[in-house]
Amino acid sequence: MIRSFIKEHNLEYLENVSLKKYNTYRLDAKANYIVFPKNIDELILLLKFIKDNNIKYLILGNGSNVIFKNNNYDGIIIKLTNLNNLEIDKTTIKVEAGYNLAKLSLETANLSLTGLEFASAIPGEVGASTAMNAGAYNSSMKDVVTRVKVLTPNLEVVTMENKELEYSYRHSFFKEHKDFIILETELELENGDKDDILELIRTRRERRIEAQPLNYPSAGSVFRNPKDLHAGALIEQCGFKGYNINGIEVSEKHANFIINKGNGTGKDIVKLINIIEEKVKEKYNIDLILEQEIIE
Ligand SMILES: Cc1cc2nc3c(=O)[nH]c(=O)nc-3n(C[C@H](O)[C@H](O)[C@H](O)COP(=O)(O)OP(=O)(O)OC[C@H]3O[C@@H](n4cnc5c(N)ncnc54)[C@H](O)[C@@H]3O)c2cc1C
Repeated sequence: MIRSFIKEHNLEYLENVSLKKYNTYRLDAKANYIVFPKNIDELILLLKFIKDNNIKYLILGNGSNVIFKNNNYDGIIIKLTNLNNLEIDKTTIKVEAGYNLAKLSLETANLSLTGLEFASAIPGEVGASTAMNAGAYNSSMKDVVTRVKVLTPNLEVVTMENKELEYSYRHSFFKEHKDFIILETELELENGDKDDILELIRTRRERRIEAQPLNYPSAGSVFRNPKDLHAGALIEQCGFKGYNINGIEVSEKHANFIINKGNGTGKDIVKLINIIEEKVKEKYNIDLILEQEIIE
């Protein structure tokens, strides 16, 4: 049924496909289908079919904040890679959800625009990063997003203003409303000095290379930092650095990173996360909150 719908409407798709290159943990889970809508009309058509037939689906960005828990995702994964239009009008940027955020950060830096320096090493797409309120160095998407174009669960396209997005640390309206899809983000940046902007990006990148295990597959920070504390320090003090389950390891370089050193699975990651949560609770009476998202 799914295949005939896809073929009838000439959608771009892959079937029974490994997700290894679609998630930064490089987990080798499979998906029944990945569909790449070419435009918003195709996305709406696909979602209508999905909803009418009660099919499981996931909007996947660059897969840099997700853990595929099972060996198979029994549904349709939707990739918005083809929604990647970019318009820059002086300091105002309109960018579609599938655009790469780090690329946008470097492009705006080269136009002497300041505001997106924090994002130069965040390997996500604009849509997901807007929804996650991705950030670093005390800045995040909430500081630059003015409004977003959204597809509602009724498949209507609406505009939501920044103040409606309920932004807080790594959180927004979209975390609680998974059936709203960001189609386009509008950002307001400021004119700045190109050399200063590029220098800031360069020095921060060097610090990241020193502090983070960027040569191994991961999905960035595993837990949010509890107020006034560092999740990495708590995990390190519990003795977890180097702790390994089937090749899934707490990084020796930064304890808030879990890295995939071999052919670990999503289940191994979730198991390790649970062990860390229990130990930190036992030792410090702190409930760590997961920053990454487990996909069932
Ligand atoms: C090496 C490394 C460093 C990182 N550093 C940082 C950092 O400094 N700061 C930070 O915040 N994060 C960081 N991350 C985590 C991650 O890159 C960000 O959270 C990023 O914003 C996730 O984007 P994505 O496209 O990969 O999302 P995905 O992992 O693909 O998806 C995340 C969630 O967003 C949803 N989603 C996807 N597209 C949309 C859409 N269009 N509308 C609504 N929901 C959508 C998905 O369904 C899913 O629930 C890092 C990750 C890595 C691997």
